Amino acid sequence: MKIICVGRNYAEHAAELGNTVPDEPVLFLKPKTSLLSPGMFLSYPAFTNELHYECELVVKIMKNGKLLQPKQSKYYYEEVSLGIDFTARDYQNKLKKKGLPWEKAKAFDHSAAVGDFIHKSELNLEDCRFSLSKNGDKVQTGHTRDMIFSIDQIIADASQFFTLNIGDLIFTGTPAGVGECVVGDLLEGELEGKSLLSVEIR
Ligand code: MG
Repeated sequence: MKIICVGRNYAEHAAELGNTVPDEPVLFLKPKTSLLSPGMFLSYPAFTNELHYECELVVKIMKNGKLLQPKQSKYYYEEVSLGIDFTARDYQNKLKKKGLPWEKAKAFDHSAAVGDFIHKSELNLEDCRFSLSKNGDKVQTGHTRDMIFSIDQIIADASQFFTLNIGDLIFTGTPAGVGECVVGDLLEGELEGKSLLSVEIR
């Protein structure tokens, strides 16, 4: 099982971090050890002083596949949830400045939190809203209509490079509003009014 993540998939978020809008999906991977399942808490990592949340729509692959066309993608997933792509922003900025890979800042243990999954038929995925609250205050809102690359385009593009396997997860990118979290914070995600995600930082 692997986790495929999309970077810079919302124009406003790309701008808030000073990045340009990409002309193809920006993909990176997180290993199995990065998964933080429902009910688990995140221990604040020792190597960062600037841990950021990035709330994202997450898609679960339910069929093995490769070299897919976008029109085939819908047959490869049926469950979605919300997740948090935890990022050591200070560390990432240091690596970016040197032109080095992001993994240490992005793919560390428990950096990929996921919530409970629901069937995609419960939503209109092209037009649904999600939000993240920190200690009860809303800090991020996203609308899937604003994605630069759609779920189907992301799956097809990823499958040109990585064989998709049952159980793989795809983090589809964060909207604007990323920010810091500290020990004691409670992060909660809602997708179309359904509470799917809850993560405490300890
Ligand atoms: Mg992200």
